[in-house]
Amino acid sequence: MSFKPIIPLRPSASPQPLASNGKRFHIWTIGCQMNEADSAKIAALLQEAGYRSTDAEDEADIVVLNSCVVRQAAEDKVAGKLNSLVRLKRQRPDVFVVLTGCMVTNQQDALRKRFPHVDLFFDPSDFSALERIAPEIAEFDDDLQQLPHYYQPETADTAGVTAFIPIIYGCNFLCSYCIVPYRRGKERSRPVADIVREVETVVSRGAREVTLLGQTVNAYGHDLPDRPGLADLLRAVDAVPGLDRLRFLTSHPKYMADEIIDAMADLPSVCEHMNLPVQAGDNEVLRRMRRTYTREYWADRIAYTRERMPGVTIATDIIVGFPGETDEQFQQTYDLLDATVCDKVHLAMYSPRPGTLSARWDDDVPHEEKWRRHHALEQLQERLLTERNASRLGSVEEILVEGKAKGRWTGRSRGNTLIHFDDQRDLLGKLVDVRITQTSPWYLIGEPIGSPR
Ligand code: SAH
Ligand code: SF4
Repeated sequence: MSFKPIIPLRPSASPQPLASNGKRFHIWTIGCQMNEADSAKIAALLQEAGYRSTDAEDEADIVVLNSCVVRQAAEDKVAGKLNSLVRLKRQRPDVFVVLTGCMVTNQQDALRKRFPHVDLFFDPSDFSALERIAPEIAEFDDDLQQLPHYYQPETADTAGVTAFIPIIYGCNFLCSYCIVPYRRGKERSRPVADIVREVETVVSRGAREVTLLGQTVNAYGHDLPDRPGLADLLRAVDAVPGLDRLRFLTSHPKYMADEIIDAMADLPSVCEHMNLPVQAGDNEVLRRMRRTYTREYWADRIAYTRERMPGVTIATDIIVGFPGETDEQFQQTYDLLDATVCDKVHLAMYSPRPGTLSARWDDDVPHEEKWRRHHALEQLQERLLTERNASRLGSVEEILVEGKAKGRWTGRSRGNTLIHFDDQRDLLGKLVDVRITQTSPWYLIGEPIGSPR
């Protein structure tokens, strides 16, 4: 299996300590990259207000839980975590407990009843709510209100090698299984100039790779006055000096226009990697999922992407065991994946989410059968990627070194493959060419060649 790289921090030449008020905060995050970005921004705002982060929940004056309820398993984890905080709150009633993320509904009375030890609930990305904890935030000037979505540790001058930057909040689709639109609201795009400014800031503080985020990232801009598209934004961000790599996720097939794929192919910083969830390979299941496209349409978008960028890597998401999914319908998904060969598949077993359309339907695929389908796709992936990755033996990949894992340097190729290598030098944040010496379905191992950049 792959090891998860740590998110490293790259100190700048002259770190400037921030003023401290002696209070500490602890943030616990699960879920999507949008939650990670929101948590990083919460950390940045609290740090600017004088608070310091701590890994020890028991020592914190503020504990923030950034939650995910996209699947039952995630919701169970959040509920477990919230319950574990009852003891902490009993021992130290002055600790301020905050819940944000997709568990927060507009029925806050019900939430308050269920979790009376939580002091503040706030909607995902509604950062102004933090003023309730740290009133100083209300006084921040515009620049600080626009604080980048990345984690600043104890100084104002450090940033990660990679940064997540949300560009569009919310989602206008209503996929029948999905809770996200109910919790994150309608699509709201950020202006191009704000995003470019944020990218410039993170790059000036050490980031070399930026990932633009949205639930439907490629719907970007339709709600802005001059209606820029994602292709326009990619061009504007690509022009930021010093940015080596640009990515974006998650795209919706319906909005994956030629124009965006052409921009990906033409712009030097945009990585040859596309994240395009298909969710199911059967048209009847897609229709009941309310996905608004067919398997043929998704396959056509992948084909055009590969035509424009030979060697591009593809990631997708799939749900198995959707209500009413028959063996034959599942086989359609299996065959589509077998024919397409994706480099990464995020697999999920369906779980009904209260309030969504499909939650009214019978969850009729037995749990064991969901597991069987999940396992079948995992095995398919293992077979396909064993073969695909073996063909990369001896090739040279450029990787951005993100940190160390198990004593080895680790980073990702432009195509987002995890690659590990040994080297005695300090290579954090460097672009290194690596010759692949060992392959597996989930990661590669190599040796560095040439000079790190
Ligand atoms: N906006 C993205 C996905 C956001 S949710 C898209 O349109 O694809 C992230 C993933 O969680 C989804 O891709 C889906 O595979 C999974 N997911 C969402 N709701 C689910 C549910 N009720 N049961 C199981 N998996 C679910
Ligand atoms: Fe959920 Fe569909 Fe919106 Fe993705 S596009 S967040 S799956 S409703």
